[in-house]
Amino acid sequence: MPKQLYIETVGCQMNMLDSELVVASLRKAGYVVVDTPAQADTILFNTCSVRQHAEDKIYSALGRLKHAKKHNPDKIIGVLGCMAQKDQKLIFERAPFVDLIVGPGQLHQIPDLIEKIHAGEGRQMEVSLDRKAGSRELVEQSFESYDPLRDPQMRPTPFQAFVRIMIGCDKFCTYCIVPSVRGPEQSRPAAHILAEARQLADEGCREITLLGQTVNSYQHTADGQTTRLSDLLAELHEIEGLARLKFVTNYPKDMTDDLLWAVRDLPKVSPYLHVPAQSGSNRMLGRMKRGYTVEEYREMLVRIRETIPGSAVTSDFIVGFCGETEEDFHETVELVRESRFKNSFIFKYSERPGTKSFQLYPDDVPEEVKRRRNNELLAVQNAISEEDNLPLLGQTVEVLVEGPSKVAQRNDDGASNLQLVGRTHCDRIVVFDGNRRQVGQLLDVAIYDVDDFTLFGSVVTQHVGPEVYSL
Ligand code: SAM
Ligand code: SF4
Repeated sequence: MPKQLYIETVGCQMNMLDSELVVASLRKAGYVVVDTPAQADTILFNTCSVRQHAEDKIYSALGRLKHAKKHNPDKIIGVLGCMAQKDQKLIFERAPFVDLIVGPGQLHQIPDLIEKIHAGEGRQMEVSLDRKAGSRELVEQSFESYDPLRDPQMRPTPFQAFVRIMIGCDKFCTYCIVPSVRGPEQSRPAAHILAEARQLADEGCREITLLGQTVNSYQHTADGQTTRLSDLLAELHEIEGLARLKFVTNYPKDMTDDLLWAVRDLPKVSPYLHVPAQSGSNRMLGRMKRGYTVEEYREMLVRIRETIPGSAVTSDFIVGFCGETEEDFHETVELVRESRFKNSFIFKYSERPGTKSFQLYPDDVPEEVKRRRNNELLAVQNAISEEDNLPLLGQTVEVLVEGPSKVAQRNDDGASNLQLVGRTHCDRIVVFDGNRRQVGQLLDVAIYDVDDFTLFGSVVTQHVGPEVYSL
């Protein structure tokens, strides 16, 4: 009987990639993936610590498993990723029936740790060193980059893949838990990344998204030669079979001209840049220790738009950060109004124990004010997103077809014609009617309607006339 694995993932693309790799390693060890915790004999949660809400959801999900574990003590329950690194033994205290706690730096050990539990060695915990627990070198070594050989079957789609180019973060924005739970910033050797990308292309992958917390800070030196993100993109661009290259997330201060020139000059690189601003108030940016002013952020946007006309820029914002006044908030609204981001992710500040802002400033903006500011900023952004999509009406865009739309997935009756979803080179979402065999292809789609989030279109078919025979 194969062993049954259920895995639930919350958080960012880095977590999605980690889960993919964990599942691949467990499949090699004889597991099959099932859809519900009830069917599974191993249940894993890959977790996020960026906001309190994400952690609360995991603790409630764990709470719901208490009885299942009581009735079936052989069921293995594991907590992986950022929350495992942050809370460590506390998870065993809050949920004593958990068997396994594994930080983001130890994911490669999971099959062995599960074996140990089966062998009666008791519950297992493997996490990295705390950032202050030793020399930088020691702490770095305790966070291992986990990038084993890829299993094409495990990717959400066989023609798209995430590739990690760095782990960790050294920016220490005062609100953020990531530098503690993901460890010091370390760039992977360019040769490893290129080998992984070549393998993916050989397996039919068409689009690669490079991942890093501050992906544009990437820098790796080997044999006296330093590779920056722009150099890496140029090398990846040469790989046959790849059609699109993307990278997230960018740090505003590291948005150098050589990178912008690479995006401008390399046609496979998407003219799409996610560069979070976080706030439009210099007072808040100072408290967040983001390392730039609003003026510098604006100057960077001008450079992006002058160098890559037509590029799509997206951003993240935190509203209700410690001490944020109505005036600070209106400066953020102003920045969103004038910057014309394709879209923005807006978050209410969530206090994180272990961060500098938790130590230094009270979380003094009331929840209802945070909520109101969130809604207000979102409304401004959504109106801009819709306005910016309008000029695409009547245009033809090139779409990489990702698969059935959510509606088609819900009503899937196996028919070959169905509603599909894909993305433009600028990362705009396009919904259109098509055929299952078009998934993974690059298609021209004519746009007939838009809203703030989606373009609606129909596939442009090449007219092939009847063959004419002379009688
Ligand atoms: N490394 C990326 C960066 O620098 O933008 C993303 C890191 S974080 C996972 C993604 C977003 O979560 C951040 O851009 C920020 O807007 C938000 N975030 C991080 N810490 C937060 C907190 N304590 N409360 C609310 N939002 C937070
Ligand atoms: Fe967190 Fe700032 Fe690092 Fe992004 S750059 S992961 S927000 S500390």
